[in-house]
Amino acid sequence: MTQSQSDEKMEMARGKVKSKAELSGSERTARIVELERESVIQTYTRQPILLVKGAGAKVWDASGKVYLDFVAGVAVNTVGHCHPSVVEVIKRQAAELIHTSNLYYTENQVFLAEELKTLTGMDRAFYCNSGAESVEAALKLARRATGRSEIVAAVNSFHGRTLGSLGATHKPVYREPFRPLNEADFVPFDDPEALKSAVSKETSALILEPVQGEGGVNVPDPGYLRAARQICDDCGALLILDEVQTGFGRTGKWFGKEHSGIMPDAMTLAKGIAGGLPMGAMLAAESVTDVFQKGDHASTFGGGPLVSAAALASIGAIKRERLVERSEQMGAYLRSRLVEEIDALEVRGLGLMVGVELEASCPEIVNRARERGVLLNATSEHVLRMVPPLVVGKEEIDRVVKVLAEILEKP
Ligand SMILES: *Cc1c(COP(=O)(O)O)cnc(C)c1O
Repeated sequence: MTQSQSDEKMEMARGKVKSKAELSGSERTARIVELERESVIQTYTRQPILLVKGAGAKVWDASGKVYLDFVAGVAVNTVGHCHPSVVEVIKRQAAELIHTSNLYYTENQVFLAEELKTLTGMDRAFYCNSGAESVEAALKLARRATGRSEIVAAVNSFHGRTLGSLGATHKPVYREPFRPLNEADFVPFDDPEALKSAVSKETSALILEPVQGEGGVNVPDPGYLRAARQICDDCGALLILDEVQTGFGRTGKWFGKEHSGIMPDAMTLAKGIAGGLPMGAMLAAESVTDVFQKGDHASTFGGGPLVSAAALASIGAIKRERLVERSEQMGAYLRSRLVEEIDALEVRGLGLMVGVELEASCPEIVNRARERGVLLNATSEHVLRMVPPLVVGKEEIDRVVKVLAEILEKP
């Protein structure tokens, strides 16, 4: 027990502080909001609810209020919250072996690599623990492969917040306080001509999202990535596809690259990979398989037995429940219902990665939807992002569309 926990026990014993069981939901929430401000570095703007439980596409707060979760941990909870088969595998694996480091062999990461190779057509995996780290690995790989350091990325891109990945993330307010960075040359998205003039024999890598996520769910023409492939081949630059958000069925295909039919040289994965546990992977194509030599890159936690087991269980669930097809079908249903019921400037997306552009203030809509039991995310003032778990049902979609329509009717 820590000092503060024992202090709290003493206070409870003196009757000064109520135990968790005695507090009401709103008291528990207020207490955590206050403690968080004092103890956690204030980098996040949080919604004022305390989440305590999840199942499928629903989460519950400390007062027992239920929410339809169309944020899904920011496109992480692909198989739904606490998917029973993922929970079962985590429990079993946790009791057996949680962590060993990569100084030794463990089984699950090898089985998972085999699975990822089959699913993507890529050739080798490197494991890490987040999206940004998978981008770091890919950028290092590109530098090692080409001996060049220049990067080309797209306007409105998001590739992470570490010093390397931040250089490829477009939003200037994220980058400017942290200069100097190895900053990318940013070109307009979905513009092959702009790529042609930016990518050169000095370029180490072109990094693109198959569908831009944080930038507002921007879907390019399928010809765009094919042009990107050709341009990189012509210049000897690596093409990195950042599939951190688009992977694992999110866009109605296993991976976003399938919409264009091309293969990248490196591919980054995280978010939906391991049923909600933190994990990242960088996959390399055959041409760059042997670029990293022993010692070139490493991660203490990377591909640990527990997260790898969770990833295998999550992939198993996606297959058994045909969630990739479901993402395609439910995504089409969600978009058609939105077009029918809502006066949007644009409804866009692929599969269950949907953006709704509105004239109204989206952060305001997020607040009002939350009050009515629907969790949404605004990527900017005028774009709502919907990335529900792929297990979401039609009735749940109908409910969310109805709530949104009612909010927009009564400003
Ligand atoms: C979320 C995201 C990242 C960063 O992932 P973290 O796990 O937050 O580091 C990188 N690229 C894309 C496309 C993302 O959506």
